[in-house]
This record gives sequence, C-alpha cells and structure tokens, in this order.
Amino acid sequence: MRIAIYPGSFDPITYGHLDIIQRSTQLFDKVIVAIAENPQKQALFTLAERLEMLREVLRDVPRVEIDAYQSLTVEYARRKGACAVIRGLRVISDFENEFVMALTNKKLAPEIETLFLMTEARYSFISSSAVKEVAYYGGCLKDMVPPPVEARLRAKFREIKG
Ligand code: ADP
Repeated sequence: MRIAIYPGSFDPITYGHLDIIQRSTQLFDKVIVAIAENPQKQALFTLAERLEMLREVLRDVPRVEIDAYQSLTVEYARRKGACAVIRGLRVISDFENEFVMALTNKKLAPEIETLFLMTEARYSFISSSAVKEVAYYGGCLKDMVPPPVEARLRAKFREIKG
C-alpha cells in the first residue's frame, strides 16, 4: 500500500488544500492529512478546532485519514509507513522555503520523497492567511473556503471582536 502524508498548519483548510488532497488521493492508496503542531507558530484555531474542520470538510473524500503530530515531519512519515510527503506550490515565493525544506528532509530521510503538486490556477491566490484577513474584515469567502469553514471563521472573529 502506497501511503503519503500531506502536512501543514491548515489554519484553516481552504479550497486550495482540498484540491491538493483530492488530487493526491488519485496517486496514492492512502493520504494522511496531518496537522503539524508547531508551538512557534501562532494559530487562530486550536488544534481541536482544526481537526474538526478537516473532519467536516473531508468526510466524503475516500482514502483520506486525518491526524496531528509534533515530531519532525520525516519521522512522522516513517512512523506512518509513508513513502512520500506532499506539498502544494502556488507562487514563486513558495519555492525557496519548500526547496530548503525538501532538501533538509531528503538529508534526514533519503527514502522519503517530497512530491510537489502545482496549484490549480483558480486556487493560486488562496492562502490561510489571506482567508483570515478577508474574514476579519467581513469580506466574501465563498470561493476560498468550504461553507463549514466559513461559518467557523465568522464565529471565531465574532468571539474575538466581542
Ligand atoms: P504550512 O504552515 O506547512 O505552510 P499550510 O497549511 O499553509 O501549512 O499549507 C500546507 C501546504 O499546502 C503547503 O505545501 C502549501 O504550500 C500548500 N498550499 C496552501 N495553499 C495552497 C493553495 N491555494 N494551492 C496549493 N497548495 C497550497
């Protein structure tokens, strides 16, 4: 069985992520969407909330598992018996970070490949941070995130703004 992991912050999951997940399930027997818990990164949503959103949005996508981890990504991949780490590429500015990360991971775990899927043009402008900014100012999120995520963003900012 060929297993891949798709690691990220998913704070929150967007249509861009969803597209990468759906496309990777065509390439692997199982794709584990895994939230990388990074204490240095300040997230808007708690880990539990991010997991719930993944579950809501990925409920009907076959061959997908949802998880979270706190270790090095390649160590997690090894634990799960994965042969590949999937990452999405949007803009040229993604490339530099992803390049360094992929080479570092290759050094640590030569048997695990990083596989880059190019974003679909219509999702290329979507990022979790842009989504949060649009949500903060009450803008339209229809083409950026699935409805359950939009509802959570609205609720979160209502709570924050009081
Ligand atoms: P991280 O903090 O690891 O970058 P993200 O949740 O922001 O986590 O993103 C996870 C992965 O999804 C990254 O490889 C990122 O480049 C990719 N990604 C994010 N948004 C999109 C998009 N709109 N289209 C394609 N890939 C994307």
